[in-house]
Amino acid sequence: MEMRALFGMDLGELTEQMVGLGQKPYRARQIWEALYKQRVPSLEEMTTLPVALREALRSAGWVVGLPEMAQTAISVDGTERYLMRMGDGETVETVWMPDGDGGERGDGSEAAEEEVGEVETAEEAVVGRGSSDTSSSNTSSPNTEVPSATLGTGSPLRASRSGREDGSVAGDVRKDASFWDRRGNGRARSNFGTLAEKGFRRATICISSQVGCAVNCQFCLTAKLGIRRNLRAGEIAGQVAAVLNRHAIQIGKDRINLVFMGMGEPFLNYEEFMRSVRLLVEGVGIPESRMTVSTSGILPGIEAFARETVRPKLALSLNASNDDVREQVMPITRRWKIAQLLEAVGKIPLRTREWVTFEYVLLGGVNDQPQHAREVLSLLAGMRAKVNLIVWNPGPEMAYHQPATDDVAVFQKMLMEGGIATYIRRPRGRDIYAACGQLKRTVAAEPGLVTIDA
Ligand code: SAH
Ligand code: SF4
Repeated sequence: MEMRALFGMDLGELTEQMVGLGQKPYRARQIWEALYKQRVPSLEEMTTLPVALREALRSAGWVVGLPEMAQTAISVDGTERYLMRMGDGETVETVWMPDGDGGERGDGSEAAEEEVGEVETAEEAVVGRGSSDTSSSNTSSPNTEVPSATLGTGSPLRASRSGREDGSVAGDVRKDASFWDRRGNGRARSNFGTLAEKGFRRATICISSQVGCAVNCQFCLTAKLGIRRNLRAGEIAGQVAAVLNRHAIQIGKDRINLVFMGMGEPFLNYEEFMRSVRLLVEGVGIPESRMTVSTSGILPGIEAFARETVRPKLALSLNASNDDVREQVMPITRRWKIAQLLEAVGKIPLRTREWVTFEYVLLGGVNDQPQHAREVLSLLAGMRAKVNLIVWNPGPEMAYHQPATDDVAVFQKMLMEGGIATYIRRPRGRDIYAACGQLKRTVAAEPGLVTIDA
């Protein structure tokens, strides 16, 4: 029998189903609450429903249908990366970053004000980048007894900062069965404490919108996968629910930011991406002002986005200062030029205190020189813009180089002096390949254990 996922349906759709089954419409509301507010992982745990109704749903092929956390890797810096398996066996990656990713400061969120004192210098960021131990540049980094996470069984292990109640350890890559057994099937547990009680101010979850990506940016590992399929809204929002459950997050008490910056191009899966936003806002209860979506620059997507009333903040992957360079690194530039993208971005009605973020991956010698910084300044003149500089994360079969430390510092300084708030994204989870653009590698290794030659 074909399984059908309840997670992903909105109240209207659930009501239709209930009425179809001869049930009272209020049952739909109970299921909706159980799915999105309580985030139950199974029908059995929908205890507000009569047993007979749960049974009827089960025999009709309904399941909750949250993505399964098939594998987990934990970094020395607290970042966790999950391989999430969907109902049809396809997998994507989702990343958990306690304390934020250092990037949302540039997105106009409240975090920007709070973290002013912590913005690291270009030099620090680059020092941290050079080795697999990124903790040297991370003031909030956890225990670093073991300099880098070692993956696989039998490896040196250290207790994680979040004080896992099941006694599990960092640097461990696990299969799902034992993982869920130990975690009580992912159900939130009240004695877990809030994020603040665990010593974190907030956390950011990075989610995927597609299995692979069709855009083919030359510096990105996800591009090498090609596109396999779009994720449905429930599969996008389901990544969030699964991660919230793992960390027993209490929405309302804990501060959670979401970034749609994992695998895939959200604006090439526009309808399902926006449906997931509504589920997350109305259902799960995460305000859209705490969400940021990143696009490589899909013009019709940006235009549609400008018309949305409930929407995340926008980040545009600029990544070059003129069309010639951008075309080399992002061939999609042949379709839509920088000027067209900026014009469309300029038409988005911004909310109070909202800024558009421009991401700029620094590729050594390609787009990181002073003339490029000058061009970026003239492109962004007059816009309510912030820039997130991302030091390129290397990967196999890519002919780029990391930028020189001094070049990063000069680039940032020039943009700042030109009046643009410019941040350097701390590399997170580099030792477990969770950093930007590094999500592909483990997917290729499925279905066995993750093997990473870090
Ligand atoms: N597809 C969307 C969102 C996912 S990529 C987009 O391209 O915007 C998220 C960010 O990671 C983008 O800004 C992208 O330019 C950046 N990125 C991709 N590969 C990278 C790499 N190897 N190193 C650093 N950043 C990378
Ligand atoms: Fe796709 Fe974004 Fe990677 Fe480009 S950078 S290939 S759009 S995931």
